[in-house]
Amino acid sequence: MNLILMGLPGAGKGTQAEKISEKYNIPHISTGDMFRQAIKDGTELGKKAKAYMDQGDLVPDEVTVGIVKERLAKDDCEKGFLLDGFPRTIQQAESLQTILQELGESIDYVLHVDVPEEKLVERLTGRRICPTCGKAYHVIYNPPKEAGKCDKDGSALIQREDDQLETVKNRLEVNKKQAQPLLDFYHDKGYLVTINGEQDIDLVFKDIQAKLEQ
Ligand SMILES: [Zn+2]
Repeated sequence: MNLILMGLPGAGKGTQAEKISEKYNIPHISTGDMFRQAIKDGTELGKKAKAYMDQGDLVPDEVTVGIVKERLAKDDCEKGFLLDGFPRTIQQAESLQTILQELGESIDYVLHVDVPEEKLVERLTGRRICPTCGKAYHVIYNPPKEAGKCDKDGSALIQREDDQLETVKNRLEVNKKQAQPLLDFYHDKGYLVTINGEQDIDLVFKDIQAKLEQ
């Protein structure tokens, strides 16, 4: 089962990725993990990637694609894989097609966890964090017992800069612009499956399972 997971920040992609990976016994491969592992293993490409990252530069596509290729060729991908955060561009998507062809594989589904933007804004801007113990809350979905105060130590909860309205809106806009061409690309290829991500976590996963086991 070769899968790609897509969704905007706040769509609950991480949670679903964990569930899918566990249920179908396929590795959840995120771009960040892939880079970290390649650097840790000291592969040629890992060294190249590190050199760019150390200078604060973006890792060029050819290096990223090479790292993906090495990762997908590993033994634990025998039953398949779940890619998360890659591809990000059409060029990367096309490279992935080539990689998979060379490995004698192809994509089965691109799962798009879709949540309306206003819902994402609500989810993301509602996050609060305790500056003392680091415990995370949400004003609607996981509120503290007493509004604005940490259950454990009573500290006044704060909203991180990243979770403030304007920042959230900008982040969503940037991500949406980046994702749209990819969604179109995979739709045209017939891989795209849209999942209603507005439901409860378990129902979202049920929908994913239903699609995968169709
Ligand atoms: Zn606390």
